[in-house]
Amino acid sequence: MKRVEVTKDVFFKEVKKYISDPVSLDMITRAYNFAQEKHEGQFRKSGEPYFVHVLNVGYILATLTAGPQTICAGLLHDTIEDCGVPFEEIESLFDHDIATLVDAVSKIGSLKFKDEKEYQAANHRKIFIAMAKDVRVIIIKLVDRLHNMRTLMYQPVEKQKKISQETLQVYAPIAHRLGLAEIKNELEDLSFMYLENEKYHEIANLLEAKKSEREAIVEQMIINIDHMLADKKIEYRIFGRSKHIYSIYHKMETKNKTFDEIYDLYAIRIITKTELNCYEILGYIHNSYKPINGRLKDYIAMPKSNMYQSLHTSVLDGNGNIFEVQIRTEEMNMIAEMGVAAHWAYKEGKYNNATEQKEIENKLGWYHDMISMMNESKLAHPTEFMSQIKKEIFEANVYVMTPKGRIIELQNGSTPLDFAYRVHTEVGNNAVGAIVNGVLVPLNTVLKTGDVVQIKTSKQSNGPSEDWLKIVKTTTARNKIRAFLLKRENDNKSEQIEKGEKIYQEEIKKRGLDEKYYFDKSRLENIYSQLSLNSYDELMYALANKSVTIVQIIEKLQKNKITSMADNDSLTKMFQQRTAKKTNKKTYTNCQVEVEGLSNIMVNIAGCCMPIYGDDIVGYITKGQGVKVHRRDCPNIANETSRLINVKWLESKVESQYECWLRVDATDYPYLINDIVTMLAQYKVSLSAIKSESLPDKVNAFVEIKVKVKDLEQLQILITNLKKINAVNDVKRIIK
Ligand code: MN
Repeated sequence: MKRVEVTKDVFFKEVKKYISDPVSLDMITRAYNFAQEKHEGQFRKSGEPYFVHVLNVGYILATLTAGPQTICAGLLHDTIEDCGVPFEEIESLFDHDIATLVDAVSKIGSLKFKDEKEYQAANHRKIFIAMAKDVRVIIIKLVDRLHNMRTLMYQPVEKQKKISQETLQVYAPIAHRLGLAEIKNELEDLSFMYLENEKYHEIANLLEAKKSEREAIVEQMIINIDHMLADKKIEYRIFGRSKHIYSIYHKMETKNKTFDEIYDLYAIRIITKTELNCYEILGYIHNSYKPINGRLKDYIAMPKSNMYQSLHTSVLDGNGNIFEVQIRTEEMNMIAEMGVAAHWAYKEGKYNNATEQKEIENKLGWYHDMISMMNESKLAHPTEFMSQIKKEIFEANVYVMTPKGRIIELQNGSTPLDFAYRVHTEVGNNAVGAIVNGVLVPLNTVLKTGDVVQIKTSKQSNGPSEDWLKIVKTTTARNKIRAFLLKRENDNKSEQIEKGEKIYQEEIKKRGLDEKYYFDKSRLENIYSQLSLNSYDELMYALANKSVTIVQIIEKLQKNKITSMADNDSLTKMFQQRTAKKTNKKTYTNCQVEVEGLSNIMVNIAGCCMPIYGDDIVGYITKGQGVKVHRRDCPNIANETSRLINVKWLESKVESQYECWLRVDATDYPYLINDIVTMLAQYKVSLSAIKSESLPDKVNAFVEIKVKVKDLEQLQILITNLKKINAVNDVKRIIK
């Protein structure tokens, strides 16, 4: 940003460039006079009157074409803090908005920057909270910080370092996120100068030394492009641009490159009229200069989340020089340099501050995310909160889209689940599948910039599981999953306790026991400790979960009862009833497995482990053959994580047959196979293949049979009965 000496004239000239209505001008004039009067007699460390600082803040805001309220608040930003002016006075002299802005800006500064990380984090949290209320607060604060950085040389060295550190860590990233590129660059360069003075000057000197040589090369390229576009009837302007020192340093550090390698690139920018012109110019440039593979970025079709739009490409000139070319419209250029502030510039006439704020928020997708994150983490520890914001907002670098084109920004390594939770908690909790760029993918697929992500949800979904915690990358998603699991556990617990009570009552009634005695809760409360439990609730919970049996409870209660003959009888009766307990009939499926929440997907039973109805199963997403259903313990999928998807048996009245292999180990004898086949017939199990072999010891043999059963229960019965054949030593289900 240009630095000029700001006088009253310079300031008002800048303001009048875009503000002309007398009411606004009068308000700004009054703010100017009020601030000057209040800061009278105050001086900065530089020896300058304090008012110079606030005037500079007002001026820079005017160069950003800020609204009149913002400019007034900028001029007044230190009056509450440093002059003891009460909120109400500003409110009555100006308006409520201005007073609120000044108050919010003051509050950010009131927590002094401390060494301890926690204080620092608390301070930063304040900044974000203030920003969430009104984005103008942070713009004023950024401009305030910019002017303070410009005059930092008057501060003691220790303070210079602390302030620079904070600027680099907090304010520059915020400026970047708001798209205030010029402010960001200057904040970075100034901080860098104070923090790494030697390195700063080293790069600055290298830049200076190569300046004229570079300018000549860029100048030649501009002439060539001008020549090329001369007869194309496109309006444009073209200029070389310089990189700021910190960005060169940052690239050298992160990409481990030398100054020459970084600075070998020449940068050119072309500003034109329309979006179409941008693409036309790009076409002509690629036609004349060889583009470098992979360097074309279309941020017009897909704007960055800070609203930045432009076409980027890199081309080679005939002499082997690489040129980075940016092509954009005037409006895009303004947004690139001034970010949210540019938004003000495109408003004419009257300023409506409420809509102004809203529109900015709507343009910044991440801003919404930040506010919702803030609302959800009210109780989080400040340090935790900061690192969360930092990770998810400031270090995010994957940009994906909803099918409707809303850009969602995620941390590197994020999966569709992170995306789902970012969109909405319910979307996350009910997620059953993800479609990325039109293709069904597992929920743990790592998303890339540009992916179009659609989440399949289902009310019937099982909801989050422990496994999801391993899949998600973002803290927000992880916290939401944990919250869900915790709630389910709690819900489940009270449900189970109720269930336990119901079981208990039914069992007592069924056994014809003395209800008056057994339903006495105080008696039950006397026995839970005898079962190593801590409460009545735990006892009922244990009963529902079958970790304690009704018999155990009755036994304990019985011991406490003095007269007991009748009950001993019922106890025996009870044991009989228990053994006779009939097995429940299940409903069977028609070979169908439901891929959770997804219909119209090809589903096949895997040929290797051959799951049958009732097995614990999992789906494997094949390339082009739909979903294959495996048993969860199938060795063929043991090392798979990324292509697995939850599936479940679909309940249905239609019976269907499932094949599986069994291996029968037996002492060899002539009728072994005969006996096995007879047994199958007896249990109405059909046989589709058989294979037998005598072992070298001539004593033992094994028979492998492929059978068809309707479910796991039938298979279990079969296995039990095969084992009853005298010569049979073992029967196992095997994977072929
Ligand atoms: Mn200030």
